[in-house]
Parts: sequence; C-alpha cells; structure tokens
Amino acid sequence: MMRRKNGNKRYFTRMGTRKKVHTFVRVKPTDDFAHEMIKYGDDNKSIDIHLKKDTRRGVVNNQQTDWSFKLDGVLHNASQDLVYETVAKDVVAQALDGYNGTIMCYGQTGAGKTYTMTGTTENYKHRGILPRALQQVFRMIEERPTHAITVRVSYLEIYNESLFDLLSTLPYVGPSVTPMTIVENPQGVFIKGLSVHLTSQEEDAFSLLFEGETNRIIASHTMNKNSSRSHCIFTIYVEVHSRTLSDEKYITSKINLVDLAGSERLGKSGSEGRVLKEATYINKSLSFLEQAIIALGDQKREHVPFRQCKLTHTLKDSLGGNCNMVLLTNIYGEAAQLEETLSSLRFASRMKLVTTEPAINEKYDAERMVKNLEKELALLKQELAIHDSLANRTLVNYDPMDEIQIAEINSQVRRYLEGTLDEIDIINLRQIQEVFNQFRVVLSQQEQEVESALRRKYTLIDKNDFAAISAVQKAGLVDVDGHLVGEPDGQGFGLGVTPFSAKPGKKSKSKKTFKEQLSSSARKEGASSPVSGKELDVSTSKTQLTPSSKEGDVKDMTIRERETSSTEPLPSDSPKEELRPPRPSTPPPKPVAFEDFKNERGSEINRIFKENKSILNERRKRASETTQRINAIKREMDVTKEALNFQKSLREKQGEYENKGLMIIDEEEFLLILKLKDLKKQYRTEYQDLRDLRAEIQYCQHLVDQCRHRLLTEFDIWYNESFFIPEDLQVALKPGGSIRPGMVPVSRIMSLGEDAQDKFSQLQQVLLPEGPDSVAFYNAKVKTEQKHNYLKTMMGLQQAHRK
Ligand code: ADP
Ligand code: MG
Repeated sequence: MMRRKNGNKRYFTRMGTRKKVHTFVRVKPTDDFAHEMIKYGDDNKSIDIHLKKDTRRGVVNNQQTDWSFKLDGVLHNASQDLVYETVAKDVVAQALDGYNGTIMCYGQTGAGKTYTMTGTTENYKHRGILPRALQQVFRMIEERPTHAITVRVSYLEIYNESLFDLLSTLPYVGPSVTPMTIVENPQGVFIKGLSVHLTSQEEDAFSLLFEGETNRIIASHTMNKNSSRSHCIFTIYVEVHSRTLSDEKYITSKINLVDLAGSERLGKSGSEGRVLKEATYINKSLSFLEQAIIALGDQKREHVPFRQCKLTHTLKDSLGGNCNMVLLTNIYGEAAQLEETLSSLRFASRMKLVTTEPAINEKYDAERMVKNLEKELALLKQELAIHDSLANRTLVNYDPMDEIQIAEINSQVRRYLEGTLDEIDIINLRQIQEVFNQFRVVLSQQEQEVESALRRKYTLIDKNDFAAISAVQKAGLVDVDGHLVGEPDGQGFGLGVTPFSAKPGKKSKSKKTFKEQLSSSARKEGASSPVSGKELDVSTSKTQLTPSSKEGDVKDMTIRERETSSTEPLPSDSPKEELRPPRPSTPPPKPVAFEDFKNERGSEINRIFKENKSILNERRKRASETTQRINAIKREMDVTKEALNFQKSLREKQGEYENKGLMIIDEEEFLLILKLKDLKKQYRTEYQDLRDLRAEIQYCQHLVDQCRHRLLTEFDIWYNESFFIPEDLQVALKPGGSIRPGMVPVSRIMSLGEDAQDKFSQLQQVLLPEGPDSVAFYNAKVKTEQKHNYLKTMMGLQQAHRK
C-alpha cells in the first residue's frame, strides 16, 4: 500500500500487480477488403500484413514487405455489442471497485473511432461505448444497494491546443469567463473550469452525452472546426461510499473515454493555411502521445514527457500509471489505406509495451472520521471516569473549561503572585495549561497597567523617533542628550516606549508643533490598517498624551489625520460634515467613514460600547483606589506591629507581671493590639472588595471587547454596502429581488412541446423493438433535440426582430 499525503486529507492507493495495456484492432467493414494483404491469426489475436512488391510504387525490392502484429484481439465484422463486451466491460466494472480506467480510440479519419466511441445517436442498437458504459454503471449501482454511489460526467474537447467544455451550454453552467487550465494535485490531474455534472439516472447521463455530441457538431459548423481534428474526452467519475459500514474510507475512480483526432499524416492531407495549422497540431499532439507512450513502455526511463501538449497533460494520470488501460485501433481493411493502417498498427504495438499498475483509489471521509473519533473520545472518557473512581479521584472533570473556571484560575494565579495563595493544586493537564495561560494574561495586563500609568503621568516618545525628539529639542524641552530641560507645570516629558514608529522624513523639516509632530508620526503608523481592533483604545490613550485639547477633537483629529497618508490627501478645506451625495465616486477613507458610521447605523452599538467602557474605567479607578487604601492599611499595620514589638520588649525588660497565670499588659499595649486587630479586619474587607472588583473588571473587559468586535464587523458591512456593492445589485439581491440563483430554468425550455414528448415516450414504451432499456436513450435524445430546436427558433426570432 502506498500512502500519499495532501494537506489534512489522506489518500491511499492499494497497489496491484503490473498489467500490460490491452490493445485491440477493429477493422471497418468494407466490400473491398484486401484479402491478400491482411490476414488474421487463428486465435484472432494477431494480424499479418503483406505488401506485394510490384503493386506499389516506392516500395523498393529490399524493403520490408511483411509485418506481424500481436494484439489482445482483432475485431472483424464485430457488432457494437461485441466490441463493448470485449473492450470496455471489465474496465467499467472495475471502476466501481475503485480502479481508474482509460479507453482510447486511435486511427485515421473515417476508420470508425467516433462510431466505436459514441456510435450513432439515432439508432439504439448502434450506440457506442459511451452510452453503454453509462448503462453499465447505473445497472451496477442498482445491484449494489449497500453502497451509496454517485456518478458525475464531463465532456472535454481539445482543438488546436485549446480546451473546450462541450457541456458549457447547459443553462446552469454558462460560458466560462476564464480559459480552462490543466491543474495537477496529489489526487491527479483535473481541468479547472471544466463543468462536471452530477447525474442520478441513466436518462440524465444520456442527455449530457447528447448535449455534448450536439455541441461538437454545432461547433464544427459555427466555428469552422474540422471535427476529425479534435480530441474528445468523456469522463465518468464514480464515488462509492458504504451504506452499511460506518467506515470513513470511500473509493473514487474515473473512466476516461477518449476519441482521438485522426492520425493520418500531414503530407497526405495536402493541407494549407488553417488546415495545415490544425494538422500540425494534431500530428504534434499525437506524436507527443506516441513519445509519452514510448517513454512509458521503457522501464528504464524515469521521465515521461506529459506536459508537452494539452492532450498528454490532460491524460497524464490516465495513461499508464495506476489505471486499467485499453487502446482500440480503428483501421480500414482496404488496400488503398494500407500505409495508414501499418502506421496505426505500429502505434498499437508500441502501446502494448506499456505496463500499468492498477490500484484502488481509497479516500477518507473527514466527516465520518470526525464522527468515529468522537465516538472513540466518548468511550475513552467513560474509561477515564471509571479509572478515576477506582483511584478515588471522583471530582475530576476533563471537559474544556468554561469562562467561570478560567476566571477562577485567573484569580488563583493573581493570589499566587501576590503571595496570598501558597500553591495552586494540580488537577489535570488542561488545568495546568490554563494556569500557564493565565500567568501570561496577568503578566501582559500588568505590563499594560504600568505603561498606562506612565502615560497618565508622562508624554512618552519613542527613542527611535528622531522626528519627535528633534521637535522636542526645538521646543527646548529637552537637550541634545535627551535630558529634560525644564518641567513646565510639574509634568515631565519622559523618554520611553510608545506605539509610534515614525521614521525621520521630509515632513519633520517643516515647522510643526509638537502635537502635530506626534500626530503626523501616528499617521505613518496608521497607513497599513486605518481602523483596527486596537485603535479604539489607542485613540483614547492619545487623548491623555495631549492634555491641552478636548477629548472629542483629538479623537477626531488623530483618526482623520491618519487617513490622509493612507489614501490620497483630503483637500484641507473640505467641509467636515455635509450632506453626503448618494454615492461618492471614490469611497471615503475608512477612518472618516468610521466616524460617520458611529453617528449613523453604528450609533447604538457605539453608545453601548462607550457605556461599557466608562463602567470599565470606573471599576478600574475604584480598583486602583482600593489598592492604594490597602497599601496604606498595610503600612499602618506595619507601624502598629513595630510599636507593639517595642512595647513587648519594654515589658520584658521591666519584668513581667502575672496574676493567677494571666499576663498583665499596660493600656498602651492593649490599645495597640486592638488597633492591629481592627486594621487586619479592614485589610481583609478591602482585599475582598479588590478581588470582587477585579472579577468585575475582567467581565467588563470582555463586554468591551465584544462590543468593539461587533462595532468593527458592522462597520465593515456598512462600509461595503455603502460604497462598494452597487445599489441596484443590493436591491436585486434582497429577497424578492430580480436576481435568483440559477439562470433560465431547464424546465421552462423543456416544457415546450411537452405533450408531443409525452406521446412520444408512451409510444416508445410500447413499440420500440430494442426493448425497455432503450427508453432512456430515446427520451434523452428527444429532449436534447427539442432544446436545440428551441434555441435555434429563439435565435431566428431574435435575428428577425433585429431586421
Ligand atoms: P472517425 O471517427 O474515425 O473519423 P467515424 O466513426 O466517423 O470515423 O466513421 C466514419 C463513417 O463510417 C461513419 O459514417 C460511421 O457510421 C461509419 N462506420 C465506421 N465504422 C463502422 C462500423 N464498424 N460499422 C458501420 N459503420 C461504420
Ligand atoms: Mg471521429
């Protein structure tokens, strides 16, 4: 077994034994069969060609005149039925067991490739391999009720090195905007942009086949294509899931049915111009196919040139490799075509050297796998519960922690850091991990607290922000070494870390105030993300940086100024608030739009956000006051303790008094003891308050974060709606609007002439000589014809209308 890895999916291919490519020859029936030149072996597995030396010009005496080709079967005067049984039946049957299959028809134009592959669509009896393969697949599905089997089909045409989707005319597909491309991934090769159609019944599959055939013919007329010069690949994709086993394994396979372009040589067609170009392409791609096949047949060759043309690239995983492969060579039995016949037979014998290693394509159904793992997890949990109860560990819970439990751990960690908790009990792995997590949370909160405490007191400038520093120097607040010159109103300018990261630039030369310097450096920083989750907070802290301005103004200014560098600059005289026109040609910068949003649709969330934030700030303030009180109490306790100790030592020095075993202390010491007791009580209550406040702060913080997230998400939606999605599209997309999924419904086309069709199918059921099996075939045929007649009529009407 070979395992291939692809992202989080796993693919397995079970290697089989090596197998030769099966090659068959089908001879086109003729009244003029060259009996003296073409002879079949008795076992019908070989074909001998004999050339009479004198009959042909150009055949020199010493040239070879006899050839013998060994094959897997020669089909002479064989019915379509027999051809299918011999060539395709096993390949199709094995596809449902997970083996890929490829059947190719090769030969000169007119030798019967299309007849073999598609057959006639008019006559059920003469249907070819494609409809028969579809029938067999659906028959086998009926025989396997224990499996859920899905069938998809696609129909690709390669013409002049371009890819065409023969099923793109279906109303729900539509013409593709981008050209199709060949993509390789670990599962194989696929054509990006090629429509693949799920079909749940035979008749639908036939409809698709006929649709493709009709398009092949139409295209050959309208696009002036020579249909014998294109390669057509009809692919049936099968996916088999077990209905009975809850196994996550499933198998996939694809059957490629390939009708190759005519193999006749260039010289003979006497082509010029466009036709020459076509012939070059065909010959080239067929000769690349031949090269690939020679390389595949050579066991020593490591590299197979698949990518040289679209045909071999598309068939990369269908030639050789892990699939069942059949080549059917179509030849004429007439003397005049002997040269081409020889060349076709040579191709076949080269193909015979190729070996493949058919293998089952097994895949894993992620959903089922998850379900199975969930089951296993539940079982293991039960097992663990039993184990715990045996070991007297009944209270352990292994579920993920909820918010309350996490908050409790956070409080434990804080108490542990403060020293009020000696140790944190270990419960389980999850809890240990959460303890570490909370250590990190507490640490980063403390860092932030320290920073914001500094910010409240000082204006912080980044040491690397030369522009700001030079501005400060110019303002005379700091000397060249960065030392403070003076402290205007008792407030110093510290040098520390700030979120600003402005680089020295041209702007720093202009005469700007310190405030402007700061906000211009902020602008640079804001360039990449005009409004990010953090920024709401940053803008508030900036308020504290510049105490001279009013809060609202500063917020406005910083955000508004920031955007100017992120997009084109706003004209400085642009009015701040005016009636917005229905839709500006260029959307406003996000920060500006954000202010509008907060006044418009976002006003309610913004109000709640602000409210929560002010509650949070109020709680923080109270927490800080409580901490100060606690510290004060602690200091007083220390002083009291010291005084008590002093009293005690004094008493010990003077000699102790005892009265009936009771120690006698003086009033001063007694009062101190009372005071200490009281202080301890105060300490405890304040401490409890602080803990409650912290829990509340945490909760509020959570609310604020949620609000912020919501505010930004709604803003994004509003922004896109207001400035990007065209208004008419918005209207149309609304329920009841003019645009709905899908295009013109098939049923509308199909319903035309329904009565006639009904009658026809009734007639079929009763009269058809081929029996009930052919009904689906004819129904599909009628529907496809009706559809194309309808389209033709519509086009005619449109043209008449134009005239
Ligand atoms: P190709 O696709 O190789 O160019 P076609 O399949 O179009 O050739 O065959 C050319 C013509 O010969 C068609 O009219 C087809 O019906 C007919 N033909 C080919 N092979 C057979 C056959 N085995 N029995 C009857 N008619 C055949
Ligand atoms: Mg053909």
